[in-house]
Amino acid sequence: MLKIEHLGIAVKDLAVSIQLYEQLLNTPCYKKEIVATEGVSTAFFSTGDSKIELLEATNENSPIAKFLAKKGEGIHHVAFEVENIEAEMKRLAAHGFELLNEKPKDGADNKLVCFLHPKTTNGVLIELCQEKK
Ligand code: ZN
Repeated sequence: MLKIEHLGIAVKDLAVSIQLYEQLLNTPCYKKEIVATEGVSTAFFSTGDSKIELLEATNENSPIAKFLAKKGEGIHHVAFEVENIEAEMKRLAAHGFELLNEKPKDGADNKLVCFLHPKTTNGVLIELCQEKK
């Protein structure tokens, strides 16, 4: 894995949290994007080599809505950048990590992504992401 690409933070109100994170990080949100297939609306901030991704639910069946209901706002996932997502998925599956999707899927910010179930990663939802070429 190359680096922590971003931290995903679940928020109730994206507009409110964008303002908050603009103040906190002293940098403007550089991208907003809706990922309809995931039921999320996202906002990205650059922090040096890594990013912060804020996630708001777009409907009540969204994984983010479920996360907020269960745990409230907070860190939702840690995303690691990988060079070859399919190879990493194979490697991790062979070690017994549970992949939440069998094939890489389209994520926000021009990425192919795959998630690992928190029950096999000490309670942390892990995202693998690879820049789309
Ligand atoms: Zn993410």
